[in-house]
Amino acid sequence: MNVLERLHKTSIRATDISSQYWCELKMELGYTVGEKVTAEMRKGRSMHEQLENEVNAPVPLEPKSYADYLYKMLYTNSMALDALHKNKRTREVQVYGSANGYKLVGKIDELVVHDDGIMVSEDKTKSENGQFSEPQIRPHRVQVMLYRKMLQDLRDGLYTSANFCRSYTVDRLSLTPEFARQLDAVGVARDMRSIRSVSDMFFEKCTKIGKLSNTVQLHYINQFTGKTLKTIRLEYTDDEFNSIITFAMKYWNGEREAMPVPYEEKWKCDYCIFFGKQCKVWWPQKKLA
Ligand code: SF4
Repeated sequence: MNVLERLHKTSIRATDISSQYWCELKMELGYTVGEKVTAEMRKGRSMHEQLENEVNAPVPLEPKSYADYLYKMLYTNSMALDALHKNKRTREVQVYGSANGYKLVGKIDELVVHDDGIMVSEDKTKSENGQFSEPQIRPHRVQVMLYRKMLQDLRDGLYTSANFCRSYTVDRLSLTPEFARQLDAVGVARDMRSIRSVSDMFFEKCTKIGKLSNTVQLHYINQFTGKTLKTIRLEYTDDEFNSIITFAMKYWNGEREAMPVPYEEKWKCDYCIFFGKQCKVWWPQKKLA
């Protein structure tokens, strides 16, 4: 059984890889044991939804099946790219790709038209007195670098509609009659009512998105007020991306077990729900401290 099967997954999310850079073992336990949704996570999600609705018009489609869901995601993505050209910014664009033969998927928080091209920006919620040490921003840095590379691959036609349709076995899926009626009601043309057609439309738009900026951004927001706490700009490089993916894939390829945090970062265990239960790696040391 490979790692994906063991974690009951069919694809790797960009957030899985970024979580590996916080604690790989915690990421794995999140799948094998299950992680509770905390109040902080709920707050972060609701903040994202609020921000998305401020920029992109909500798409009034209610998926009834996995096929409907895929259609809606591609359709919403396509509308989001139109909004980028119209409003110079857009939110919540799902991106697809592959790494070492695995399906890779992620959702970009924001794209902004900048002086030197389109900039990928990632929002993170934090408490008022949140810290910005290197280990704390490392997973966010990884996430934004991954998104930048995935978007570049879509733009360069390195991952296309054909790749997507093959990978997601689109030709075997059909939309529900109820969902087809909804598409009719919102005025989607008859020849656009298939996953393949909406996929072709989205991936074609990706190739025409324009130049991407090498600058990427982390935008930290107060989790209660929504006000900006800090903005960090970073330079994307292929070298950094290659080193990120090489390290991460060793785990997904089964070349090593999930790693716990190193000794000097065992302070992270104080924030981990698995500490002292499913994970006792640093339990004796912490008890003595
Ligand atoms: S207790 Fe510490 S080492 Fe163990 S999974 Fe949690 S963060 Fe990682």
